[in-house]
Amino acid sequence: MQDTLKSINPATLEIVGEVKVTTESELTDIVTNAQQAFKSWRQVPLKKRVKKITAAFESLEPLHRGLAQLMSQEMGKDVRRSMGEVSGVIYGAAYSADDVAAALKPNNVGGDTVMQYLPLGICAVISPWNYPLAMAVNLIIPSLVAGNVVIFKPSEETPLVADEMVAALNEFLPQGILQIVHGGKELGQKLVESDVNLIAFTGSRQAGVDIMQRASSGLKRLIMELGGNDPMIVMANANIEAAAGFAVASSFENTGQMCVSTERVYVDAKIADAFEARVAEIASQYTVGPWNQSNVNIGPLVNKAQFQKVKSHIDDAVAKGAKVLLGASEQQYPYIPPTVITDITPDMLLENEETFGPVVAIARYENIDQAISRANDSDYGLGAVVFGGKGAADVAQQLEAGMVAVNQSVGGGANTPWVGAKQSGFGYRGSVEGHRQFAQVRVLSK
Ligand code: NAD
Repeated sequence: MQDTLKSINPATLEIVGEVKVTTESELTDIVTNAQQAFKSWRQVPLKKRVKKITAAFESLEPLHRGLAQLMSQEMGKDVRRSMGEVSGVIYGAAYSADDVAAALKPNNVGGDTVMQYLPLGICAVISPWNYPLAMAVNLIIPSLVAGNVVIFKPSEETPLVADEMVAALNEFLPQGILQIVHGGKELGQKLVESDVNLIAFTGSRQAGVDIMQRASSGLKRLIMELGGNDPMIVMANANIEAAAGFAVASSFENTGQMCVSTERVYVDAKIADAFEARVAEIASQYTVGPWNQSNVNIGPLVNKAQFQKVKSHIDDAVAKGAKVLLGASEQQYPYIPPTVITDITPDMLLENEETFGPVVAIARYENIDQAISRANDSDYGLGAVVFGGKGAADVAQQLEAGMVAVNQSVGGGANTPWVGAKQSGFGYRGSVEGHRQFAQVRVLSK
């Protein structure tokens, strides 16, 4: 393993900073430390745990801008988006902690029987780079509220912002209940194989498969929030303006690097000309650039591998006959300009894999059954969206995804889970059922 991990600014390729990679023997000590910390944290009453966690997150307030700027430097998103993400982390923490605690109160189910939601032990939180703090905190808060202790491995792309947040939180949290480790895939694998009880993972499907295998011998609990290849269906009776606006915004959000970004659009051939023209027009208004320039809403791709992947999906589509309505024929690393491609087909990577870049990929359909069948023809099933008037709800009903929406983005409202179907994961966070997955359920009959 390398001794240090360098964090690279994807826009300038300059080194933002570096952290020491956690060694195997350090990981062993960290696990021992977590076991010690668990003994006392599990005894802290639920209400008191919430209080301590909330106070720790509130203490991040003066760091708001600094954390946001560091996040942008490390992974490239424009600073307005980073400010929004950090804001959610700081100001959403109290609400989340209360919500989890409410779900974990003992529940008298009648007669002499009580359902209890008890601490599980050590939770490994492993998170991705696309929302470097939000994705981690979404798993850290329910773990800690449930009385577990956390060993957190952030993505190797964004170690610094994670490190700074954890250091600040640890000024307020009891020693050892939130520890951070640094490294790449190998360290993630070692963490999964170490003496942890629950693995709460957000990341790619491929890593999820490996984690399941490594966790199986200890029958460790798993919460898997994995990738997606979200379809959007635009029906003939859709509001074209609203649908085109959504297709672009959802495909380009976070430079397309969002688990529920729209990855492929199926539009009724009857309105396709008008829809595609409007999509290209809206998309052409997007501005590409580094995080600290005003008006930028598409940043660099996070790294060379991600850039190459998006480029290869575009090249593959063009080679197989798709049409480029908007976008450069030659992309200059690290930017993929706003791209709109039509006439995609099921054999193209753009249609059958998660692209994770700023591309609107469109196909036309003649009848709605074709659209539904193509939308469902994927191993993934995270989100799916339908735009349309009468009949749209019926179409939504037939889509195979954990989160489906009509004329709006997926994700539901407060108290709903963030959940995938098929190979987009299992075990989830959010909602009463989600919160309880961070706890050991016990049935006590007295
Ligand atoms: P990734 O799977 O490559 O890495 C995620 C984390 O897992 C990193 O910390 C990485 O070091 C670690 N890791 C990688 N391989 C591992 C292994 N075999 N064992 C243990 N740890 C391992 O994913 P990424 O590129 O960081 O993130 C992008 C992916 O995350 C996309 O597929 C995206 O859709 C998905 N994602 C899903 C959600 C969701 O809520 N479902 C949210 C955000 C991102």
